Amino acid sequence: MSAPITQDVLTIPRKLPEGPINLVGLTRAQLRETLINAGTPEKQAKMRVGQIWQWIYQWGVRDFAEMTNLSKAYRAELAETFVIEVPEVVSKQVSADGTRKYLVRIAGGHEVEVVYIPEENRGTLCISSQVGCTLTCSFCHTGTQKLVRNLTAGEIIGQVMVARDDLGEWPERGAPKDETRLLSNIVLMGMGEPLYNFEGVRDAMQIAMDAEGIQLSRRRITLSTSGVVPEIAKTAEEIGCLLAVSFHATTDEVRDKLVPINKKWNIAELLDALRAYPRLSNSERITFEYVMLKDVNDSDADARRLVKLIQGIPAKINLIPFNEWPGAPYERSDWDRIQSFADIIHKAGYASPIRTPRGEDIMAACGQLKSATERARKSRKQIEAETRAG
Ligand code: SAH
Ligand code: SF4
Repeated sequence: MSAPITQDVLTIPRKLPEGPINLVGLTRAQLRETLINAGTPEKQAKMRVGQIWQWIYQWGVRDFAEMTNLSKAYRAELAETFVIEVPEVVSKQVSADGTRKYLVRIAGGHEVEVVYIPEENRGTLCISSQVGCTLTCSFCHTGTQKLVRNLTAGEIIGQVMVARDDLGEWPERGAPKDETRLLSNIVLMGMGEPLYNFEGVRDAMQIAMDAEGIQLSRRRITLSTSGVVPEIAKTAEEIGCLLAVSFHATTDEVRDKLVPINKKWNIAELLDALRAYPRLSNSERITFEYVMLKDVNDSDADARRLVKLIQGIPAKINLIPFNEWPGAPYERSDWDRIQSFADIIHKAGYASPIRTPRGEDIMAACGQLKSATERARKSRKQIEAETRAG
């Protein structure tokens, strides 16, 4: 019998803020309350929220002294009680293909990875929502990491802010507002299951989409889930971003092994939730992510089953050649196998792009993320044993 899947996020005691309170990541309502509690007159609070918010998210300011539309006395008061803090960048690696990987440190000394992928017509930031992941997808490096905690909204939007720092992309440094931005898209495809940290992700993405915040369109944000079915409808209602789903198999038997959350919500239940996911325009599609694992899920029969399963869902199928990591219990499918799988899907009328692995030389590709301190804790034997037991 396999163990039931629970959301047992280890609660690592977080230090109560003894020192100054960080304003990054507070919702507008929380910011208002925080300012009032610290003595800002209620009547002024709404205006102050708007002003401070714009300085932080639109202009990238970290020092209250630079908030020149606030009185000097008020600026000094703010600086006594609050800070504007983003995660600390511990290291940065730049791949031969231009991909950048940042290791950032958050409260408690934990580390998460953030990846920036420049493309011709966009620049995508892949951000993390948790330290590690409670789920244990057998092909995923993050899933082998034991330590897990949810990131705060501030730590999530903070990843976007540190990337913009590094790219030199705040308006006073000439950042455009549209798709010509270096950082034009966000994908929640880094470490962690975003729908197991719903509130943190929602609050951070609301800042990312806010017209006075980071100002990204909802269509430029994609949340990837392994299939937390009850949270899918909520994602549409409360975030409204695009959805990607880690599908990876065409039978429950295989998906149970690859994406064990399938034992809780199986393929049929997942597909029902996806069918109900609202679209604001015809061009909006659900992305089905499908990792290509040699002799596991990559046959022509799988491709034909996949097409049948997703019938009626406006979809694009993103084929991800498996990214190997030290000790991984799978191999990447051969190139002609991936091609023939893609052909079947394409002939059925779906876009079936094969994701080009980016930043492989710096271990920045999908599913390879894992904080350096946690890397290689489990041996290949352990993982193989768990895969068999799965
Ligand atoms: N937890 C979320 C988002 C993070 S993973 C989810 O599972 O959807 C982002 C994508 O990379 C997912 O589709 C995931 O299944 C895939 N992935 C994980 N490990 C991988 C690997 N080693 N090679 C290729 N894709 C991988
Ligand atoms: Fe977690 Fe996603 Fe990795 Fe599965 S694929 S272990 S859900 S990060």
